[in-house]
Amino acid sequence: MTGQSTIGRFSALLGPKGVITDQDDIAPWLNDWRGRFHGAAAAILAPASTQEVAATVALASDLRVPLVPQGGNTSMVGGATPPADGSALILSLRRMNRIRSLSPDDNLAICEAGVILSDLHEAAEAVGRRFPLSLGAKGSATIGGLISTNAGGTQVLRHGTMRALVEGMEAVLPDGSIFEGLDALKKDNRGYDIKQLLIGAEGTLGIVTAAALRLVPAIAARAVGWVGVRSPADALALLRLAEARLGDSVEGFEIIADDGLGHVLSHIPAARCPIATRTPWHVLIEVDHADMSEPGPMERLEGALAQAFERGIAVDATIAANDAQADAFWRIREAVSAAERAQGPALQYDISVPVARMPAFMVETASAAERAFPGTTASSFGHLGDGNVHFHVRAPSGTADGLAWIAKEGQAISAFVHDAVVAAGGSISAEHGIGQMKRAELGRLASPARIAAMRAIKTAFDPKGIMNPDKLIPRPGEG
Ligand SMILES: Cc1cc2nc3c(=O)[nH]c(=O)nc-3n(C[C@H](O)[C@H](O)[C@H](O)COP(=O)(O)OP(=O)(O)OC[C@H]3O[C@@H](n4cnc5c(N)ncnc54)[C@H](O)[C@@H]3O)c2cc1C
Repeated sequence: MTGQSTIGRFSALLGPKGVITDQDDIAPWLNDWRGRFHGAAAAILAPASTQEVAATVALASDLRVPLVPQGGNTSMVGGATPPADGSALILSLRRMNRIRSLSPDDNLAICEAGVILSDLHEAAEAVGRRFPLSLGAKGSATIGGLISTNAGGTQVLRHGTMRALVEGMEAVLPDGSIFEGLDALKKDNRGYDIKQLLIGAEGTLGIVTAAALRLVPAIAARAVGWVGVRSPADALALLRLAEARLGDSVEGFEIIADDGLGHVLSHIPAARCPIATRTPWHVLIEVDHADMSEPGPMERLEGALAQAFERGIAVDATIAANDAQADAFWRIREAVSAAERAQGPALQYDISVPVARMPAFMVETASAAERAFPGTTASSFGHLGDGNVHFHVRAPSGTADGLAWIAKEGQAISAFVHDAVVAAGGSISAEHGIGQMKRAELGRLASPARIAAMRAIKTAFDPKGIMNPDKLIPRPGEG
């Protein structure tokens, strides 16, 4: 555990508000969202400005104290959980939660790292714009965490991941120097793009302190539909039909297996199935227009769904009559992760394969996993149009000790699913990152060239190895 004299040095720098040492206050931040990883830390450092972050990192570098950057702690891969031996301190960015500017003319918001995603949504809406990235953890996830995991979510189909939405960045590098790149230039060819290196780096290359984020016009008219289909192949056919008829106004296209919907209905109060028929698979589709031109999204989605019925692609469908109903559809989708967690122990995989291969992958890998691990059930939900689903393998019913089941079966099941992903030409992390959960699997499955390049970049940026130790980069024996 980091010693008291070291903590005292940080206290002298940051003052009483900037260093938390009460273990009751620290405790909630030592475990990951899924409850899989448990760390220890003698203190949380909570600087309130970029200068304070820089001074903190410089001191940590001098003292060789590892830092674990943390935003909302919603990481799905144990990315923000400190090591269990107490050797690191948590560096929380949550006090840096100011939206420095919001310019409708530039379509830009300059946000500090600790701004919570839903707060940015509200602020952008107040000036007639929106930030087009959303996910189930929007009430806790911060801009710094979203950038550092290159988060995706439900609008990637139209607007891309964080990589496409970060126009500029301010960051503190591992020696305490400040990288000032907030200028958001449309064209800038000064060589390596440092901000893109930091996006998705999971806090291993530096601390994001602020970012210039791209805004888009507010939605003037929207239609949100719920469609029951027989298979993921029909869901993909529906997407292609919708794209052909509606172009890039299709902003969201999510698939949910019926058992995932069932868990939401069981565990989330007031949730109900939007359609009368319980079909094997469900699709949530959102069509957005930035103007009120006719025909509006409602009429256009109705036309597309009529054609889907004619072609036998859709079994049942409804379009939300108003915003409240549309939001209720989305709440079902956003509740799937939490409902699955309430349902019982499961191993969750956030994977991608080429879009055209995804329907077969979802069906075949689920039944192959159930055959290989008797008693388990497997299914998936998520962003079909991005070729990215969350693939879950649930413990046999009646499994009382989930952690013991994971300890016994986890490695074999993970290897089984990940091998299937690699065989299909995919990625073992589509959007959640690697963290500590997938580090060894990355080492096992990534090409030597990829791992060597990652290690070289890490060493060049962080020669003392103080930034988020043991995350992302495979250990020597791991690859
Ligand atoms: C219910 C639920 C649904 C989710 N749905 C999605 C989804 O659809 N798509 C998706 O992409 N993700 C999803 N996630 C994952 C999660 O929301 C993202 O990983 C999010 O980007 C993390 O933000 P955070 O502020 O909580 O970061 P944290 O969890 O605190 O940190 C995440 C990683 O970023 C690093 N980090 C945090 N802040 C900084 C910083 N300022 N500088 C440098 N490094 C930093 C941490 O060290 C860690 O490695 C979901 C999570 C939950 C709980």
